[in-house]
Amino acid sequence: MSYFIKRTENNLWHGKFSTFPDDLVTHAVSTRQGGVSPAPFDSLNLALHVGDENSNVLANRKKFARSLGFDISDIVEPNQVHGENIFRVDETCRGRGSTNYAETIPETDALITDVPELPLMLCFADCVPIFFVDVDNRAIGLAHGGRRGTFKKIAAKTLLKMNAEFGTRPETCLIGVAPSIGACCYEVGSEVVDECKKSFPANFGELLTERDGKIFLDLWRANVVQLLEVGALAENIDVAGECTCCNDGWYFSYRSAHKKNLDRTGRIAALIALKPDV
Ligand SMILES: [Zn+2]
Repeated sequence: MSYFIKRTENNLWHGKFSTFPDDLVTHAVSTRQGGVSPAPFDSLNLALHVGDENSNVLANRKKFARSLGFDISDIVEPNQVHGENIFRVDETCRGRGSTNYAETIPETDALITDVPELPLMLCFADCVPIFFVDVDNRAIGLAHGGRRGTFKKIAAKTLLKMNAEFGTRPETCLIGVAPSIGACCYEVGSEVVDECKKSFPANFGELLTERDGKIFLDLWRANVVQLLEVGALAENIDVAGECTCCNDGWYFSYRSAHKKNLDRTGRIAALIALKPDV
């Protein structure tokens, strides 16, 4: 199992999980390289809602979509609110949020589908992207696990929703935890420590570490723990292990931008789609 970054023909980079079968899904995590946006959105900012020029974002989205064999008008995107709503996407949703933020699927932090060639996309700057691939039932999911979503167990709930909708078996579902802020950089305050203890009464000890009098939270492990709790198997969960804050030349990072006194930054995207039935 491994996560790797691969250069594309049109000079972008795709972060990928080697565990996901290429004949079943198209997927990628974008990087910040290869786009047209100026600082502080330099350069492949894929989010329409962060203050970047729409024309830049659309040019970036077109390039990213094309690098994966899609048209920008295929992409389905939600309006992410750090909640726990999960939406089943069907053909009627094609293109929602792809060029107009007002048309995103409202207040939703995870998308699932069994419709082929319908790319799901979510945007991130430190929050945890979680990919789901159900090979047996040909279904996929993509969740946004920020700190709040992680504490609400959006990843576990997405897997359970896939079980309810598509018959996905947690023990065979392939899962990828993509680059996001690591415990190396994610310092949290006492309120977050209390929330963590409430959400993970049996595991908070392994999620919180103290260094130099500061407390750090491991969001990657928190997502893995909740997935194991609902029946996913450790050998099917691939954790990229790349910190967006440490690697801010590759990825947008809210924390890294904040440290540099930038009040805004861009977003990377995670995208996944089922390939057509053969
Ligand atoms: Zn780090």
